Amino acid sequence: SDVGSQKERVVTEEEWLEKWEMGNIGFHKEQGHPLLQKYLDVLLNGRSGLRIFFPLCGKAVEMKWLADMGHSVVGVEVSEQAVKEFFSEHSLPYCEEPVPEISGAKMFQSTSGNISLYCCSIYDLSSSIVGKFDAVWDRGALVAVNPRDRQRYASLMINLVEKNSSYLLVTVSYDPNKHKGPPFYVPESEIKSLFG
Ligand code: SAH
Repeated sequence: SDVGSQKERVVTEEEWLEKWEMGNIGFHKEQGHPLLQKYLDVLLNGRSGLRIFFPLCGKAVEMKWLADMGHSVVGVEVSEQAVKEFFSEHSLPYCEEPVPEISGAKMFQSTSGNISLYCCSIYDLSSSIVGKFDAVWDRGALVAVNPRDRQRYASLMINLVEKNSSYLLVTVSYDPNKHKGPPFYVPESEIKSLFG
């Protein structure tokens, strides 16, 4: 498999913001992702009250599902529009505050306190700011990261998880010469070398 054709491709933050503005968000699943339902038990592994991280969260409805099950959800998303749409589409009241450690960043938190969405780049986060997580739902995240940033992304994710954490990763398999991405094609061998 030749992934060379996608290696150099860069999607800027501005381009992502523009996708949201234009309503170009074919990745958003109104009904949630069937693979989370299917593998929920694997993610939770019998545990309750987890801290669950949604990297590059968009307005994923699964954040509401997991919060309703009693978990605490943290997401990060560059588009403020996406974050606001999430709260308004679920009729969730929220408050908004600056993040002192990250210039320009804001944190949007449901009034009930169990959903916190950071509006900034994921690369601005660290465990000293957001703590560590028991579980990660990575869908449309690793595959949306620019290929040149994958190593940095994976190192950060490894840093953000507790020792006994679970990580559900969704990837897409296709011929990278036929589609420029995102979602990018991330071969299994690369996933193994990124996450060990
Ligand atoms: N995981 C979501 C969204 C997938 S699309 C879902 O399953 O629906 C990828 C999202 O990542 C977009 O909403 C985009 O605005 C956001 N994004 C892209 N680069 C980012 C970055 N560096 N930091 C945080 N969010 C980013």
